[in-house]
Amino acid sequence: MKIKISEVFYSLQGEGIQIGTPTVFVRLFGCDLRCSWCDSMYAVEGRDFSVLEINQVIDNVLSYQCGNVCITGGEPLLQLEQTLFLTEKFIEIDKKVILETAGHRKPPEIFKNPETIVSMDCKCPSSGMNFKSDLQNLIQLKSKDQIKFVIADDNDYVFAKKIVKQNSFNAEIIFQPVYGSSISEIANAVIKDKLRVRVLPQLHKDIWGDIKGV
Ligand code: SF4
Repeated sequence: MKIKISEVFYSLQGEGIQIGTPTVFVRLFGCDLRCSWCDSMYAVEGRDFSVLEINQVIDNVLSYQCGNVCITGGEPLLQLEQTLFLTEKFIEIDKKVILETAGHRKPPEIFKNPETIVSMDCKCPSSGMNFKSDLQNLIQLKSKDQIKFVIADDNDYVFAKKIVKQNSFNAEIIFQPVYGSSISEIANAVIKDKLRVRVLPQLHKDIWGDIKGV
């Protein structure tokens, strides 16, 4: 089976509940959204990708001897069959699999497995893609999963707060600033509003800046 790959690299998980944990990232190429602040456009459009045999990708991941694998993009669920194949293989050999997905596509049943974490976005207005988010997908997530709101401004914060207050989610909720915007403003607002969410930075960008492959 062939797979369109943007990059495979070993780094620290920079976001969410596994922040700081050594992880191998498998970035699949292609996305059907166009978020205004997308930080991985090289994996969304253009020709900067490789078409590989999927077993080559698995061998590459295994060479790092790391327990955590993050399948990201782009939008991995556009290559559904390949995402499923990778996930099945990695679970079989006791890896923890994190799927990063934009929230407009339903993750397949395998992501109910406790050895997986679904990291699903709820797109805020500044992305220009908030009309694409599907609340049903967010509601169906489990306590092992996470919902990520990427917040650029006050309007995004108010939007995210409203969604959190109006719904009863099982998944962990993350408020994350768009890179370059203020995390302290979000933190202060979350404390003032007594929201039960985690406020987290993008650790990898704080360490290495906004560069590819970390
Ligand atoms: S969904 Fe993710 S990869 Fe796709 S455009 Fe938005 S931020 Fe970029």
